[in-house]
Amino acid sequence: MPYLLPTTCVVLAILLFLSWRTHLIARSLQKEKHHLEKQNLNEQYSALEKEHKIILNAFDDALIITDAKSNIKLANRSAKELCNRNSLRGKTVTQAFLNQPITDAIKKALATGNACREKLVIPSGSFGSSSSLEESSWILDVAPLELENTKDLYRVILRNITAEHKTDQIKREFVANASHELRTPLSIINGYLENLLEDGMLEETEMATRFLTTMQKHGSRLSELVEDMLSISKLETGDSSLLDISEFRVADVFEDIRDRLISMTREHNSSITIDLPSDDLTLSGDRFYWEQIFFNLTENALKQNCDKTIEVQLAAKVIDGHLQFTVRDTGKGIPAAHLPYIFNRFYRVEKHHSQNVVKGTGLGLAIVKHAVELQGGEISATSIPGEETIFTIELPS
Ligand code: ADP
Repeated sequence: MPYLLPTTCVVLAILLFLSWRTHLIARSLQKEKHHLEKQNLNEQYSALEKEHKIILNAFDDALIITDAKSNIKLANRSAKELCNRNSLRGKTVTQAFLNQPITDAIKKALATGNACREKLVIPSGSFGSSSSLEESSWILDVAPLELENTKDLYRVILRNITAEHKTDQIKREFVANASHELRTPLSIINGYLENLLEDGMLEETEMATRFLTTMQKHGSRLSELVEDMLSISKLETGDSSLLDISEFRVADVFEDIRDRLISMTREHNSSITIDLPSDDLTLSGDRFYWEQIFFNLTENALKQNCDKTIEVQLAAKVIDGHLQFTVRDTGKGIPAAHLPYIFNRFYRVEKHHSQNVVKGTGLGLAIVKHAVELQGGEISATSIPGEETIFTIELPS
């Protein structure tokens, strides 16, 4: 029996050893499990953070999260780009935006503690891209964040609406100018109609004929205006599917224009000359619009100089593989101060003619510019008053 004692001791010792090993393994597994869980959580957290960042940065609008005292807690990439900084966290709105109207508006909105949305027009060069020389327009949208465990946090969104603002402005100006231009002939026609309807006026045949002739002149002006307005609104869509492209001889277009304007040239002994590198020079484009382009430019030269003899030259040249057209005249020219505006709708150089003497809608050059650009070209004008005026159209090869 006594020899059984050491055997029991050995078994006990082995059992003890095994239970200690099991305990150690269990502990280490437990540790490993915690570690893996932690690692997993960390991975999940950083994946989530990455996702949020991607979502925030995919947003074109500038977005910042700030507290009520305008300390920035978070900013997306657009906001950083807008402020020209790598990081905005920890800065105040004033330090970040460096633009008083913007910071004032944000602070005012934060002070109310409520959601607010307003449109801001910022003067040129002072905000956004440093190269911006024109005023810019923005929608500022501020609202408190309604999240659990967050207090006094706000989201501020700045959306650049400069392009939409400009389009609206152009539309408003167009409607105002068009109404003004249409009102003048309409009120003249109405005035003459009233006179004609007065007792006995229709019996005075000579006077009545004079009134009717004037009314007809203003009626034609009205339809000319409407035609031009329709052309320009069509061209302004920038939709090149409007174009009916074909290949045509440039000489045919120039000669047609010379024929159409023959009575105007004869009136004052003026001339239209054509200068082409070859009679067979062809152009691929919308012949209707190209004829309108050269017609408007040539007619302008003649009608702006209806009191003198001038020469108009229609020319084309191939320069470094691209086509250059010029319409040159030896008329009174365009003063330098007016040159930057002549392609604007309804712009007329009033100084050197009266609207009654020189016919026109002020839309001719705007139509020309749009028609050239829709066909991939560019137009510019130079003038030496009293010597010459040149309109140049550059077309890519
Ligand atoms: P309009 O219907 O008055 O001709 P345009 O848009 O065609 O309108 O031209 C705008 C203005 O540019 C004209 O009113 C005129 O003052 C000026 N202009 C255009 N072409 C010439 C030119 N060849 N010589 C002098 N002035 C010109």
